[in-house]
Amino acid sequence: MATSDSPMPASAIDLHMHSTASDGRLAPAAVVERAAARGVELMALTDHDTLEGVAEARAAARRQGIRCLPGIELSARWARGVVHIVGLDIDPSHPALVAGVAAQQSERRRRAMRIGERLERAGMDGVAARAAELVGEGVPGRAHFARALVAEGVVRDMQGAFDRYLQRGRPGYAPVQWAAIEQVVRWIHAAGGVAVFAHPLRYRLSRGALRAAIQSFVAAGGTAIEVSNGGGGRDDLVAAAALARRFGLCASMGSDFHDPDFRWIEIGRLVPIPGDLTPVWASMEPMT
Ligand code: AMP
Ligand code: MN
Ligand code: MN
Ligand code: MN
Repeated sequence: MATSDSPMPASAIDLHMHSTASDGRLAPAAVVERAAARGVELMALTDHDTLEGVAEARAAARRQGIRCLPGIELSARWARGVVHIVGLDIDPSHPALVAGVAAQQSERRRRAMRIGERLERAGMDGVAARAAELVGEGVPGRAHFARALVAEGVVRDMQGAFDRYLQRGRPGYAPVQWAAIEQVVRWIHAAGGVAVFAHPLRYRLSRGALRAAIQSFVAAGGTAIEVSNGGGGRDDLVAAAALARRFGLCASMGSDFHDPDFRWIEIGRLVPIPGDLTPVWASMEPMT
């Protein structure tokens, strides 16, 4: 895994990152400024199930003289699990996508209520209020509940919050009905975008189940798979590249940046994708 003093040069391309529009820590404009300062020339803001940050990011990118694709990371149901599908170069005002995002947001609101109730029932009164405070205007996601559990002194860190409270089977877990993977890909396509199967090695799926999930994505018309991801090491990259070849998918790369204090994931800190793979950005219109 790359560390903050890694000699790896920053990549000029980073197509996966988060802002305060979802569970990132920096405002959309600050994410773009950080990307530009780190030498990124082509980026995408890909907040979870929301397009709220896209306009601010695009305006900041124009000021910085870099290119920012409108993007999103959609939560998707596959069998009984969840996978993440990144949509790139989407029209953020397309009605089908906007309606889909609204449905995902109402699921998020419903789940946030239930997580709050469950934590309260487990004796943690202040956590829901703290999560709501941390999120500001949006809907608290699990990362906000995790930060609230840390802030309330219930656990020492985010990992502890997920392991002890927020993971499936834990007292603060509430199920959520995301749209099916086929539906999510349809929304992205309707909005003129390209669908990317995000961080394939991060789901707790068996090899067979992972391949079946990717097969569903391919059958739905998905284009690319995230071969280089900020959270994975070189082994993950090799495995993801093999999946790209096996399924004939283009390759994407994105840091999945959330938090400047989370030192081992940084904007543009990415292993380059192998030269035999087709980059997903090769087919995108250059900046006009
Ligand atoms: P949600 O989409 O609300 O279910 O939240 C998922 C988000 O929680 C991910 O995108 C990560 O940002 C964060 N997350 C998941 N697992 C962990 C973990 N073990 N430690 C820190 N953050 C996590
Ligand atoms: Mn996140
Ligand atoms: Mn994700
Ligand atoms: Mn992400």
